[in-house]
Amino acid sequence: MLFASQVTLIDEYNTSQICHCCGNKLKDVYQKKSVSFKDGNGIEKVVKLRSLIWALKRCDHCKSMDKAKTKYDHTYKHRDFNAAINIGTIFVRLCERRARPPQFTPPPETATAADGEAHEPHPDAT
Ligand SMILES: [Zn+2]
Repeated sequence: MLFASQVTLIDEYNTSQICHCCGNKLKDVYQKKSVSFKDGNGIEKVVKLRSLIWALKRCDHCKSMDKAKTKYDHTYKHRDFNAAINIGTIFVRLCERRARPPQFTPPPETATAADGEAHEPHPDAT
């Protein structure tokens, strides 16, 4: 049995870069580690590496705001979870005001024509 549904396309511009809690710009998170190896003369060398953790972002504003009030640390945000909440916020704003929040509004040259348009699902979609 098929159910009637409607799909609305939302441009994902900035949705993983802006904190869904406070609206501030999120920062990258890096993992630091040391790797040791022996060089050609048998002398042990240590190299410090810093690698980007792509899935995580950090909000310094939420870090200072929330930790005293709750037992949870709200400093780190999963970028996909954060983006999903922001996309929901954009959808609600589009329904209410027919406009995206300014922080999620792409420059005119990168905006997609489909943003906010409603589409019927493909007949083969389940
Ligand atoms: Zn925040």
